[in-house]
Amino acid sequence: MTDEPTIEAVPTEYAGTTFRSRLEADWAQTLDASRIKWAYEPETITLPSGTVYIPDFWLPELGTWIEVKGPGIPRVEKTIELAQTRACHCDGICGCAWPGGELIIIGRQSIGVAPDQRGYRPPTGYANWETPHGPSTYSVTCTACTRTQWITLRRPWRCRACKRSLEKQTVYRPIDRALRFVEGSAGLGGLWAMPDLDDA
Ligand SMILES: [Zn+2]
Ligand SMILES: [Zn+2]
Repeated sequence: MTDEPTIEAVPTEYAGTTFRSRLEADWAQTLDASRIKWAYEPETITLPSGTVYIPDFWLPELGTWIEVKGPGIPRVEKTIELAQTRACHCDGICGCAWPGGELIIIGRQSIGVAPDQRGYRPPTGYANWETPHGPSTYSVTCTACTRTQWITLRRPWRCRACKRSLEKQTVYRPIDRALRFVEGSAGLGGLWAMPDLDDA
């Protein structure tokens, strides 16, 4: 409570959608800035355990789900179960619609933008994520179709959108700070756009 301003639960409007939290809206902006198509809460899923679950984002071009979790929300059981269920279970060569099956990542608060004592956060940081099940996920931008995405290092490395090889491309962990995160301005009442990466 004292070291982390609790701003996650504030419903936030962005792109005609009311998100449950500012952090979710920030992820939507981040996906837009990276030209990643998204749908917010498009599906209600009944997991094998019988639990009903509505993941936050589905990325239809990438076969990837993002569940956004702030620091005070450690419960990720449903996300882990979804990830286990949707991962590839092929014997031998993967025949899934998406390489390795559907991918699930947990979207966290950005790194590199610690709030000051009054809770102000600078507008740009770097995306931070975790993998709830299976091998770690890395961000990569396909040079063939230019789509930014998350992949695991399970071979073959193929673009989840265009299916071309990514073997020669650099992949990034969150700590590599390669994927800019877009944050709404806390306290100034507006959301501002990410500066073009070329300007940096
Ligand atoms: Zn498979
Ligand atoms: Zn591609």
